[in-house]
Amino acid sequence: MLADFRVRQRDYLLEISRAITSQLDLSVVLRLVLEAAVEMVAGQAGLIVLQEEGGSLAVRASLGLPDPVLELLSPLWTDLADRGREGGLWRSIDLERRLMLASAAAGVALRQVVALPLSFGEQTVGAIFVFRRWGGRFSTNDRQVLASFADQAAIAVHNAQLYEQVSREKRRLDAIIEYSADGVMILDAAHRIQVFNRALAAITGWSAAEALGREHDQIVRWARIDSGTELSAAEAGGWPLTASVGRGRRNVLYVEGDLRRRDGSTVTVGITYAPLLDREGRLVNVIVNVHDITRFREAEELKSTFVSVISHELKTPVALIKGYAGTLRREDAHWDEATLRESLRVIEEESDRLNELIDNLLDASRLQAGALPLKMGEVALDAMARRLVTRFRSAQQAPDDEKPRHRFEVSFPDHFPLVEGDEARLEQVLSNLLTNAIKYSPNGGTIRVRGQVLPDQVVVTVSDEGIGIAPAEQTRIFDAFYRVDDAPTRRTQGTGLGLYLAKAVVEAHGGRIWVESEPGQGAAFSFSLPLTQKVTAHPPAG
Ligand code: ADP
Repeated sequence: MLADFRVRQRDYLLEISRAITSQLDLSVVLRLVLEAAVEMVAGQAGLIVLQEEGGSLAVRASLGLPDPVLELLSPLWTDLADRGREGGLWRSIDLERRLMLASAAAGVALRQVVALPLSFGEQTVGAIFVFRRWGGRFSTNDRQVLASFADQAAIAVHNAQLYEQVSREKRRLDAIIEYSADGVMILDAAHRIQVFNRALAAITGWSAAEALGREHDQIVRWARIDSGTELSAAEAGGWPLTASVGRGRRNVLYVEGDLRRRDGSTVTVGITYAPLLDREGRLVNVIVNVHDITRFREAEELKSTFVSVISHELKTPVALIKGYAGTLRREDAHWDEATLRESLRVIEEESDRLNELIDNLLDASRLQAGALPLKMGEVALDAMARRLVTRFRSAQQAPDDEKPRHRFEVSFPDHFPLVEGDEARLEQVLSNLLTNAIKYSPNGGTIRVRGQVLPDQVVVTVSDEGIGIAPAEQTRIFDAFYRVDDAPTRRTQGTGLGLYLAKAVVEAHGGRIWVESEPGQGAAFSFSLPLTQKVTAHPPAG
């Protein structure tokens, strides 16, 4: 009878061991182990504690015990881990004393306990506790059965823990790849795409779903290569086995140039290909890193535009000043009063222009450093507009002026509200818009300055009937040093700083600046200022 029972117990033990060792999900393994342990020795409750990363033991599975009780039972296993094994069992007398105290504190009737360490090699990874609420003591046989089961269980738990660790690592790695700011893809040996992250989808315009499974060359299509050799050509030349030394790293291939995006547009990128070889040196994977260097290129272009614009803009007035001054100084010539005055006028004008350019440059660099100081006060924009227009009108009235005339109109509603702002800076904005309106309507026409009052802001618009601005240029003209690259603009002088500064000033006031225009139809530049505002100085967005 007893022997029969033991055979059944052993069979059961084998069966359950097989079931749990085929499981990889740690929480499922723990549940199965606990159920089996409790059932095997006819207990009514149980729990499994496992070693955490810090070394302490924490409950990871329980059966027949309400959650609040678990914490109160912790005296059962605090410092147990250090005591090691005693013939596969912990000393039961010590345990039972602890159980009495703990179960009294927890208010549960647990009378008998048996505990088994879950050990893997020399290492104790945790313990199983089985309780009886009623019935006799756990017998030596109970303990032996549990002890041999615990060894199997420990292996299953250890495997599941390893698996959990590997899956966690994999998830972490996947997340790193997915959210990397650079484009990342992984290719198999035949260049089929196995991984394709978000950043790469944004750079190429292909979604991961479309790209996965396709070949590298279908997605990476070069419009132009500036340096390096493209992947398939490099591989035909023996890469990665012949150490083509790219950027000092062995076997890494680097290609830079313009990539054709899905919609046909291009983007400037640098791509690094790192091969992953097996022990025999065969290519297994290629790890591809795609870095968008458009901004870097733009910054480089901006720097060179800066140098060419500035040198041109500085050289012209300096050359004029020097030329006129040199002529006036000639000792063999006598200049009449009119020539003298005219020459001095040019010298003065050109000096003013230089001065203005230097001021603008200083403002621009202050802005880039994030500090455009504002002197706040109350500003009457309507009066300012009339004053400026009077000044511009009279500047046009020079008697021998051959330039086309512009007509000016100013319309502001009565009782136009005062705004809070920096008078000199706002005047600079309006004056810039008026200067542009004149400059970019070479055939004359009417220039209108209009004020509008809205519930919480005012809007001032300067419109002209000049050359206008193509839609694609309409946001770029507010960038520093940006000038439209067409013949009429090239004929006018300018640095491309005026609108950049205007935008900065308006935004520092909490307002907005924008343009509405069609090529050939003139342009209307508007800026808004809030009627009640907090004012902070900051560089223009974008
Ligand atoms: P600048 O006039 O010194 O070139 P801005 O920053 O004032 O610099 O203007 C940038 C560019 O925007 C100009 O070069 C010109 O191409 C365009 N632009 C500005 N105002 C007008 C306008 N009223 N009509 C047409 N184009 C304009």
